[in-house]
Amino acid sequence: MNNHKRLYIGLLFASLTVIALGFLGVYNLIRFQDYPLFRGITIGLASIFLLGFILVAIGTTAIVATIIRAKNIPSFEGLIRIATTFLFPIAVRLGGLFGITRERIWASFIEVNNYLVRTHRNLAIKGRVVILAPHCLQESHCPVKITTDINNCRRCGKCDICGLLELADQYGVTLRVATGGTLARKIIGETRPRGVIAIACERDLSSGIQDSNPLPVMGVLNRRPHGPCHDTRVDLNRVEEALVTMLRGG
Ligand code: SF4
Repeated sequence: MNNHKRLYIGLLFASLTVIALGFLGVYNLIRFQDYPLFRGITIGLASIFLLGFILVAIGTTAIVATIIRAKNIPSFEGLIRIATTFLFPIAVRLGGLFGITRERIWASFIEVNNYLVRTHRNLAIKGRVVILAPHCLQESHCPVKITTDINNCRRCGKCDICGLLELADQYGVTLRVATGGTLARKIIGETRPRGVIAIACERDLSSGIQDSNPLPVMGVLNRRPHGPCHDTRVDLNRVEEALVTMLRGG
């Protein structure tokens, strides 16, 4: 497991530890109350909490087991989703307390997610994969409107939309450009893909990957040589790698 993945995994286990310690602290404060009814409620709530905690802990362990085995464990996919949904926001906050930037944690989460997606076999088939690109990839002075119809692009080569279109043609997949999360969700609803290659910044990819669950999404970070959301670029080799993974599995 490389350092990028270790950061997110470490924060997941740190979050579990903090939750467990918090629970023990609160439980010890209230368990000595004398009222039988109060004690009954406390034990009931503690049991529900413990059950949830055990499920999240199993999901977290399953993430590590999947990475180590380099093979998905289908029966644990639901628990992995629960662990991610529940622990991700806590891990980001906890990382902040240790001075770790959100961008680093988001990037680590995306790397873990991509690895988990890669462990699936026969993920998607030609024609059922969508490449979702952000609007900021389009050259800012380009006059054509590509959000409504990507074929309006004249393939002049001034931005990476041209290269993405060539990849989409080569691999028989759909390329769409989204101006935000709402349009991205609409595109997914219309095209009903079996897999998505999403290009965006750390924050948008992290939230998009979680919003799209259980649809497999491989995230490719964009490059921002001119600052955020302006004339961004993408490494086409990384998009192609993600496409090959998604179409062939592994
Ligand atoms: S490649 Fe397409 S989208 Fe990019 S600047 Fe040229 S015409 Fe516009």
